Amino acid sequence: MKPSHSEIWRNVDQLLRDKLDPEDYESWFNNLTLESLEGNQAVLRVPSIYRLDWIDRHYKMFLSDLFRNVVGQDVRIELRVSEAGSEPTPQPPEPGEFVTGRTPPRAFGLPLNPKYRFDTFVVGDGNRMTHAYARAVAENPPGEVYNPLYIHGGVGLGKTHLMQAIGHAILAAGKGLRVAYLDAEGFVNEFIVAIQKKSRNDFQERYRNVDVLLVDDIHFLAGKDATQEEFFHTFNSLYNSRKQIVVSSDCPPKDLPLITERLRSRFAGGLITEIQSPDLETREAILLLKCEQEGIELPGEVIRLIAQRVQSSIRELEGALVKLAAHARYTGKPVSLEQTQFILRDLVQEDPTGISIEKIQKHVAEHFRVKTSDILGSKRTRSIAVPRRIAMYLSRELTNHSYPEIGVFFGNKDHSTVIHAVKKVEAEKKESEEFAKFIDRLKQEIRGIGT
Ligand code: ADP
Ligand code: MG
Repeated sequence: MKPSHSEIWRNVDQLLRDKLDPEDYESWFNNLTLESLEGNQAVLRVPSIYRLDWIDRHYKMFLSDLFRNVVGQDVRIELRVSEAGSEPTPQPPEPGEFVTGRTPPRAFGLPLNPKYRFDTFVVGDGNRMTHAYARAVAENPPGEVYNPLYIHGGVGLGKTHLMQAIGHAILAAGKGLRVAYLDAEGFVNEFIVAIQKKSRNDFQERYRNVDVLLVDDIHFLAGKDATQEEFFHTFNSLYNSRKQIVVSSDCPPKDLPLITERLRSRFAGGLITEIQSPDLETREAILLLKCEQEGIELPGEVIRLIAQRVQSSIRELEGALVKLAAHARYTGKPVSLEQTQFILRDLVQEDPTGISIEKIQKHVAEHFRVKTSDILGSKRTRSIAVPRRIAMYLSRELTNHSYPEIGVFFGNKDHSTVIHAVKKVEAEKKESEEFAKFIDRLKQEIRGIGT
């Protein structure tokens, strides 16, 4: 049964309370209402245009993350001012204003996501070095060698998480250092507004007075000459007064298109580190941690299958997890391996060969007139064991999956079972020319079907 939309909002609202500082919650999210939720479109009513603007600029991703957690799918969020909404506009804290008082100091610029800390970052192959550098910077800024620290890597591999972890750690150390975190897009936008309002000086002051400047997604500056110029000056002035700078990008400095040579050589003068895709073990560890964090319960074999199949980005890994958890919540039953395969189907990238194991299983099952579920099961009768063996063999031949991976696709069988099956089919092919021809024909047919 689907929860009503007021129930959904109650859950999202609770997550907001859990995840934000009470003060942030009160300032921005108090008195919001969910007006409608149809399909994947949610309309939220916000008491003032001022809040609307702020939420829109700083919390939209965060909100849609929370919605995804609750409803299990991506939700597009539209913000509207409430009908009654004439809440007096408070004095906006300048983005970047240092908030003092009882609450811990906050970063200038964009708010830091409370989830992105070092203690929620799983270290493994792929991110070990970058993590170590980020730690070094956070413990002792400015690092002599690590300045600027340039982190690059593909989408969803943890760059933003690490940058914000640096911010959190420096603030938590309580040395009174001023930290600014922002993405290059925000930098560009603020700069444009500053020029329009002729308040360029304020803009310069704001970012030249910090101790640690964290600029995310620097590739966004590409081609924006005036902003690059501005950034370069900010960069130089901070660098010369020995302040720490950390930037992230989707590529190494040498590949940044349309970035001025001066800026490029500045980046190249520091430490450049690349985050790479996590290995299987790390992916599993991340999934386990996320389950624990979000109170999601999934069988170990399901976690393993997600880790096997979703390889490219950790964001996708999380997406898969959330989707499965939502499924489990709706049905009230633990998720099975077959359901996992089904649910993951549209989430994961196809095998580069264009042929999936499912396709092979289906084709072989049809040919032998057995059920795919029998092939995945454990019956050992000859009429089932033969097609199963052949499907395993073809999976090995036609896809790039490893033995253990193939085992998982066949109802979580051990890799030794797969190896045994492959050997057996190879031996039979040698013995009988007819059998060899038959296997070749199956191969052709499957190749012909493609995806
Ligand atoms: P990027 O900025 O490189 O695109 P993000 O930092 O936004 O990637 O990471 C995407 C998601 O994956 C985030 O939710 C983040 O918390 C999570 N994530 C990435 N790497 C790790 C890790 N090593 N441990 C735990 N979570 C991670
Ligand atoms: Mg990022």
